[in-house]
Amino acid sequence: MNMTLRCSKRKCKNPAIIHQKYSGLHFCEDHFVEDVERKVKKEMRKQLMVEHGDTIAVALSGGKDSSALLYMLKKIFHNRYDLEFFAISVDEGINGFRSLTIKKAETVAKELEVELFIFSFEKEFGFTMDEIASKGFEQAPCTFCGVLRRKILDRKAKEFGATKVVTAHNLDDEVQTILINYIRGDIERLGRLRGRRAEFVPRIKPLRGVPEKEVALYALAAGIPLSTIHCPYASLSFRFTVKKMLNEFEMKHPGTKYSLLRGYERLSEFLPTAQPAKKLLRCTRCGEASASRICKACEIIAKMKLD
Ligand code: SF4
Ligand code: ZN
Repeated sequence: MNMTLRCSKRKCKNPAIIHQKYSGLHFCEDHFVEDVERKVKKEMRKQLMVEHGDTIAVALSGGKDSSALLYMLKKIFHNRYDLEFFAISVDEGINGFRSLTIKKAETVAKELEVELFIFSFEKEFGFTMDEIASKGFEQAPCTFCGVLRRKILDRKAKEFGATKVVTAHNLDDEVQTILINYIRGDIERLGRLRGRRAEFVPRIKPLRGVPEKEVALYALAAGIPLSTIHCPYASLSFRFTVKKMLNEFEMKHPGTKYSLLRGYERLSEFLPTAQPAKKLLRCTRCGEASASRICKACEIIAKMKLD
C-alpha cells in the first residue's frame, strides 16, 4: 500500500512535503512555497506597504531566516526596478559562531546580487560580545547584544539612506517577544512592537506570519543550506525558556502560536503605540532618539568602560 500523502490543493496530485497541523493541510513543494509567499505578501500589506522608489535595508545575519527572506524579497519584487536593496550584517564578535554566519551572508548577498555592508561591535563600540559576556553581568548576554545590534542597524540604515528596514523575525520570534512582555507586564514594549517612533526608519517584518520550521523548509526548497551552528549564549536567555515552552504548547495544541499573535493584534488596538504623549528625548551621549536621557546602548558602553 502506498502511504505517500498528497498535497491538499485542489487538483494537485504531488506528494506532500509538509503537514501543517494548525491548518490541517498537506502541501507539495510548489504549493508550500506558494503558501509561504502568500503569507509574506499578506503580512507586508498589513504592516507597511513598500512604496515607489524605496531603498530597503535588509538585516542579514547569514542564518536561514534572513537568507530566505532576502531570497524571497528579490523573488517577489524582481520586476520592481524602482526599488533598491542593500544588506547589513552585524558582527557582534562571538567566537566560533558569527564569523561563520557572516561568511554565509557574504555568499548569499553575492548570489542574489545585493550589496552587503558589515559592521562590528568592536569597531563601532570598542568591545566584542565575547568581552561583554566575560564580565559576568547579571543580565544574559542577549540583553546587551540585542540593544547594540539594533543601534547599529538603525544608525547605518539611516546613514545609508534606507527608507525601510526589513528584518527576518518569524512567527516564533514574534510570539516569544509578545509572551516575554506579557510575563514582564511591559505594556510600553508591547505597544512598541506595533508602532515605532517616527525618528527611526520604518521597519517591516515580512516573516512575522510564518512559523520558524516553515522558514527552514522554505530555505531548503530555495537551496539555502541550513547551518547547525548556534550562538553559544542563546541558551542563557529568558527567550530560550519561553521558546521551549511555546514549542511544547504548539506540539500539544497546534495553532497556539497563531492564536497568541492574533490575540495580541486584537489587544494592541488598546495599547499605547509609539508613546505619543511623551516628549521626544535625545540621548545626551550619542544624540539619537531615546526613551530616556541616556539611551540603552550608551548605558552599556559606559558600563563596559567602568569595568
Ligand atoms: Fe546575540 Fe543572543 Fe543572538 Fe547570540 S543569541 S547573537 S548573544 S542576541
Ligand atoms: Zn545614546
